[in-house]
Amino acid sequence: MDEACHTVRAQNEIMNTDFKKPPPIIHSAKTLYYAVNDESVEFTDRINLFVGEVENFKKLGEMPLLAICENYSEEKDTVLFFCDSNWEPQGVFGTKSVEQAKSKAEIGYKGITNKWISANTSEEELNKHLKDHGIDPDADWWKVSCTFCGKSQSEVEDGLLSNEKATTYICYDCIKDFYKFINED
Ligand SMILES: [Zn+2]
Repeated sequence: MDEACHTVRAQNEIMNTDFKKPPPIIHSAKTLYYAVNDESVEFTDRINLFVGEVENFKKLGEMPLLAICENYSEEKDTVLFFCDSNWEPQGVFGTKSVEQAKSKAEIGYKGITNKWISANTSEEELNKHLKDHGIDPDADWWKVSCTFCGKSQSEVEDGLLSNEKATTYICYDCIKDFYKFINED
């Protein structure tokens, strides 16, 4: 195959997947950059990211889409998501900056450094996305708090425990209260 033909084919493949931009928010983190693992990128398998259940960890394989997102927390830390074709993260790395996330990605996906696209999400798009999901954009919706007493992560000394899907949280004070209640009679 000559070079021109190769380029056209590559572009078509990108067009086929290109497509869908990532959602403005992935797992409570704002999408800053995204990249498509197309054929100009070489998967090196040099990132050791283990996912799955505790008894059954497996190394995360090649993913078609990557995203760099910023957490809605006081620290505004940056995360690198390895996503399936629906932008559903299958693995995540916490990093300190966009630059660090990009270098981390390059280790496992050689050539991806040139592929990052700025998500450029406007405030309107963000707010619309939140409202579409029944979330009030003006609330501190991203703050994790105890489902039972409402104290936030920063208000409880011992942190919060969550259930597996992270839909409910409980603080240790509430655990103690429930324990007392259960053992009262
Ligand atoms: Zn509580």
